[in-house]
Amino acid sequence: MTDVPVTFTKERHIKYFLRCLKTFLPSLYTSNDSNRMLLAFFTVAGLDLLGVLQSKTTPEERQGYIDWIYHCQVPTGGFRAFTGTDFGAENRTPENEAWDPANVPSTFFALELLIILGDDLSRVKRKECLKWLPRMQRDNGSFGEVLGPGGKIEGGGDLRFCCFAAGTRYILRGNCGEDVDGIKDIDVDKLAAFVQACQAYDGGMGEAPFCEAHSGHTYCAMGALTFLSRMAKDQKPPPVLTPGASEFESLVRWLVARQTAELGDTEEDSDDDDNSPETNEVLRPVPDTAEEVSLDESLDKLSVISPPTEQDLRCAGFNGRCNKFADTCYSFWNLATLDMMDRLDLVDTSRNRQYLLGKTQHIIGGFGKGVGEPPDLLHSYFGMVALAFQGEEGLDGVDPALCMSHRAVQQLQALPWWKQGI
Ligand SMILES: [Zn+2]
Repeated sequence: MTDVPVTFTKERHIKYFLRCLKTFLPSLYTSNDSNRMLLAFFTVAGLDLLGVLQSKTTPEERQGYIDWIYHCQVPTGGFRAFTGTDFGAENRTPENEAWDPANVPSTFFALELLIILGDDLSRVKRKECLKWLPRMQRDNGSFGEVLGPGGKIEGGGDLRFCCFAAGTRYILRGNCGEDVDGIKDIDVDKLAAFVQACQAYDGGMGEAPFCEAHSGHTYCAMGALTFLSRMAKDQKPPPVLTPGASEFESLVRWLVARQTAELGDTEEDSDDDDNSPETNEVLRPVPDTAEEVSLDESLDKLSVISPPTEQDLRCAGFNGRCNKFADTCYSFWNLATLDMMDRLDLVDTSRNRQYLLGKTQHIIGGFGKGVGEPPDLLHSYFGMVALAFQGEEGLDGVDPALCMSHRAVQQLQALPWWKQGI
């Protein structure tokens, strides 16, 4: 089978991310105003991955972004996701601070943004943040999102928050941070046990124990365990990170099985095609009882599913759960997890490239969620990172757990509490 020539339209992607950075975002983002730190991360990390963050922004602009991030730092440690809850340090009291809390995911993204932008984290309330983290951990080992009134842990509870808490600890403790040795750490064993209990019968990870496996949560689970394992090199990694163990092998099998040629773009998948014969077929009156139709008659009425053609199989994206269509971001969630497990070679990367560049890469730059959809920041960044794992020319390599460029990882390793490589 010959691949159709596809091109990574780097210049258009640069323009897309610059538009997102320097002009207003489309109105559809309004409801995400309280997630600005995440949107900022995708935008700035996208330009970094494209290798143009330094050349397409001025030092003054980058300093402005850094100052905005520090403006989101709360005095007691950690970062808020946007400035909307900030009522001013002078008005802040122990009684009202729960209304302007630090947020676990935003803290992780704020730290990564600062690193990507070349900041030395000297203004980060590092010790306060590390003291705040264990207060966010629940008895079952999982993490909440914010501290509410009376120090009550609120929100979260699923694997996303486990991953961001473990990542924040990783960035701020580093590998030689003796100065924070005396600060009470999170309960690592409880966290690791909670994450591993989320592995479902089929090998994938659900959002909590006994939930359906999902690629996004699987990524977060393996991200959390990877951060913990990198910091405990003298200890045996958990079975799900140990090749040969049934937990590891069943997860690999589940992840590889997420690659699919079902893209959700064929006529029968479209629900606006009212005049098609298939639709009329479906609208025929349904008999009152099952006995009115014989088994043979029922079989005759089943639609014919043709075997896939060569054309159908040319593009193969990834889904996040069984029986779902492909979606750009799942190329990231699945490939990043396989990369952490050193099993990227088991998937068909060239067909994934055909899917991303031929089907969801948008003509104005960026990537959409599915075929023919407009670009958005999340799918644009994750589409590029998925291509970076496959060595796409024009993109820096990416650390799968930190989800940022190798160049940015080097900045992290240059911090005082990071003297050796990860
Ligand atoms: Zn998606």
